Amino acid sequence: MIFSTLYRNYQFFYNTVVSIIITMLFVSFPLFSRRKKRIKRAVSPIENSVNNETAPNPPENALADSNNEIDEMALNNASDRAKIRVRVLVAELMDDNNSVHFSSPQGFYIIDLKNNRKIKVNKNEITLKNINNKWYVNSVNLESSDILIASPSELLLFNGVIHHGRFRALCIKKRAMLINHLDLEDYVLSVLHSESWPGWPLEVNKVLAIAIRSYISAMIFKNARKRVPYHVRNTNAHQVYKGKVARHDSATLRAAIDETSGIIIVHNDEPIVAMYDICCGGILPSLMTDVNFQSAPYLARSSACHYCKKMSLYQWRLEFSKKELSEHLKKIVPTLGTLQEIKIAQKDKAGIVQKIQIIGTGGTFSVDAKKLYAVIPKLFSCAFSISGNRSNVVILGHGYGHLIGLCQWGAYYKVLDGANYKNILSFYYPNTQLKRIV
Ligand SMILES: [Zn+2]
Repeated sequence: MIFSTLYRNYQFFYNTVVSIIITMLFVSFPLFSRRKKRIKRAVSPIENSVNNETAPNPPENALADSNNEIDEMALNNASDRAKIRVRVLVAELMDDNNSVHFSSPQGFYIIDLKNNRKIKVNKNEITLKNINNKWYVNSVNLESSDILIASPSELLLFNGVIHHGRFRALCIKKRAMLINHLDLEDYVLSVLHSESWPGWPLEVNKVLAIAIRSYISAMIFKNARKRVPYHVRNTNAHQVYKGKVARHDSATLRAAIDETSGIIIVHNDEPIVAMYDICCGGILPSLMTDVNFQSAPYLARSSACHYCKKMSLYQWRLEFSKKELSEHLKKIVPTLGTLQEIKIAQKDKAGIVQKIQIIGTGGTFSVDAKKLYAVIPKLFSCAFSISGNRSNVVILGHGYGHLIGLCQWGAYYKVLDGANYKNILSFYYPNTQLKRIV
């Protein structure tokens, strides 16, 4: 169900009943059966489900020659790409005191999916709250656990930021979730604004646009099987999504989206989980032991990236007094006492630290290295060594992030060396092809 259809439907509805809209907060109307069917389709759990229709294999050198056409593939059941919708979990209202705010200069439509009714709200602002699995709009109990919030215009602001599409507010098993439904390409552009770097040339942004689109396509593909109500969260647990932001270089980013429209990276005709990081630090992902390369062989890159060497976080250094480090470590080891020694207990061949041993006056402790991210400031990755003396500890590290997949700064320097987006993607995601979603 595309928004334009729903919107035309709303417009017709609005024009028909506007003369009898009263000035009360809400006026509800029964739905015509045809509309009911359309609205049901709009929230069907199989909306945008992805099937694995096969497309012809591309020529083997498809990535090497930038002039080659890109083969097409179907990502979902829709007849065109515009019907692919991304569902992003943007908030969870964890307790009764939580509320979120929407504004829209032309008011709102609220579609109650539980009770099959549509509500026109003639207010420019609404507050949404959840109490005991029921949604309240401006303190009015809608007696529903499942509603859609839409604006008749493109100007729908959620917590002060313009967002594309519409919002579904849904309670399942005591989780009160707010999910933004929006078009694929709008989502990719928004994420690109958050993930790209000011001043980067068009070709790097094309690389990122394709990686972002591939990642979300893979999530759509996976979640269609699980039938969860959202595909991704809006945080860097997936990809940072902040709504319709225009942070920098809007024209360049828009061009990157348009020039790569619909293109994704595939492996065995499925969209890949195209992970990416700020700087890989020269680490070889194929030597990592904590990654399931069987399910994602395209992440097992065995050629080192040294293109990011000029980036300041290719190699970094932290120094702490033992007293200062003790205070940080006590957040994960409360009984540590005063730190005496900290050393690496387990490291894989790629150089990723897995376990550390911490010795303090309170005892000896083994800690998962990933837990250090939360407590040691500016620990940019788990690829590090530890040294020091009686009073200080020095941590020397490489790269920023999980150090797997696309290296963003490496891609930037490769573009400066003359590489195009196809060369770059084939380097960072080996044994993959590019296809265009149709
Ligand atoms: Zn790199």
